Amino acid sequence: MDLYSGKINKLIEELSALPGIGAKSAGRLAFYLINEPEEHVKRLTTAILDAKANIHYCSECFTLTDDEICPICRNTGRDHSVIMVVENTRDLAAYEKTGRFEGVYHVLHGAISPMLGIGPNDIKLKELMKRLAGDVKEVIIATNSSLEGETTAMYISKLIKPTGIKVTRIASGVPVGGDLENIDEVTLLRALEGRTEI
Ligand code: ZN
Repeated sequence: MDLYSGKINKLIEELSALPGIGAKSAGRLAFYLINEPEEHVKRLTTAILDAKANIHYCSECFTLTDDEICPICRNTGRDHSVIMVVENTRDLAAYEKTGRFEGVYHVLHGAISPMLGIGPNDIKLKELMKRLAGDVKEVIIATNSSLEGETTAMYISKLIKPTGIKVTRIASGVPVGGDLENIDEVTLLRALEGRTEI
């Protein structure tokens, strides 16, 4: 026996498919949305559709942006010769929040994982190598300290070494497997300042 109408069940099902939303939260959200004024629900669905339709990769660093080139890459006040490599846009945001990194970023959109069948060609690695043809002094590898993050760091380091460009790795102290976005700013800054050449 279904507790709710088919349409409510469908809404709960879709919401509970979102990351971090369990069945209970999905139910709460579903009833919240149903009771909200139609205007609000429309604003929400429009924001989702609009983001989906208009957000794409920055043509330089591959972060998600509304523009052809993101505001960080466009900023001539930043040091474009220092590139910090992160796994995703959320990690970029975590470092950006510290307000202390003056270089630019490169977003890989994933990490190498032989177990999941994700190889070097499945992340934005070729794109990173292309950027190194420019005037680059240092590549800081800030992938997560998970097995995949470490594998990726090693792989990138081996790839860049022959170019003579300095490659550094953020200091450990970032919890293993931890999403960078969940780590406090002091820890991130310490990891960044304590980076070592690899
Ligand atoms: Zn960019």
